[in-house]
Amino acid sequence: MNTRPYPPLVNRYGSVGESGEWRVAIDAYYWDKMAEAYEIANNLSASNLQWYRMIEGEALTRERSVTKQVTPWLSIEHVPEEIDLDQAHVDAISEACSEVAGRLGWNFEMGVMVSILLEEVNAPWHGARAGYCMDKYPYDKICIPRAAAVSVERLAQIVRHEYTHVITLNVTRGRIPHWLDEGLAMLMEGESIPLGPNWLAPDPLNGAFEEDRRVTEGIVNSTHAYAQGAAIVRYLYSKGGEVKLAKLLRAFVNHGLWAEIKINLLGEPSVDEALHEVYGFGQRELFQMAKP
Ligand SMILES: [Zn+2]
Repeated sequence: MNTRPYPPLVNRYGSVGESGEWRVAIDAYYWDKMAEAYEIANNLSASNLQWYRMIEGEALTRERSVTKQVTPWLSIEHVPEEIDLDQAHVDAISEACSEVAGRLGWNFEMGVMVSILLEEVNAPWHGARAGYCMDKYPYDKICIPRAAAVSVERLAQIVRHEYTHVITLNVTRGRIPHWLDEGLAMLMEGESIPLGPNWLAPDPLNGAFEEDRRVTEGIVNSTHAYAQGAAIVRYLYSKGGEVKLAKLLRAFVNHGLWAEIKINLLGEPSVDEALHEVYGFGQRELFQMAKP
């Protein structure tokens, strides 16, 4: 019996070295046992595949796109043969960013590229199909599926959500917990979704945002997480509006030297300290008080 794959084919699809489990997956592939191969590959490195899909989607878009610098802090990339990005769409993006910046007291210190992704990358195997924000250099990047960019209203809503992440990432230097980050983005977006059956504690709630959204269970759990994050942020909003929410973001980094050393060396989360500074209560109390 010949072992598969034949040497020339190994090179064609890129070497996976001697990595045993990939070998098993590829062997199954060459025997056309597709369900088995797919299951092994999925279990092996879902996170790598997610990276792969994001890289692929953005790279294919780049090959066919044009980029327009709209303001010193905003550029927009789109594929002209796929979407007619008229002035109304450009204005919607720019105004959505400006609106959120105004509400959270942000002065556009970091540039952003908004990229309308190629239609063909909007597929069930992509892990972030609703749009996402990436902390890149020399600008942050917001990627939006083409179908969601057709309606000016929907486009503005997604940009308000994702641009919130640009602000939170930069203002808190990435220290903001998932629940606050997504809850705030939902508030800026203007979206509300019904709460799920369980009210989670902070750690499991943050974990639920990272569930794999290519499978139904992951979609359900992460949707519940968004709903809970939004409910908690609405509670905070009721205790001081957007002025205090803007202050809360700054409170993640306005520490004295000793607190900074502790955060940097020990990796201590600063959410409790930030909440106490602005609202006078910590994360545990907040989760209890915000629970319906
Ligand atoms: Zn988000």
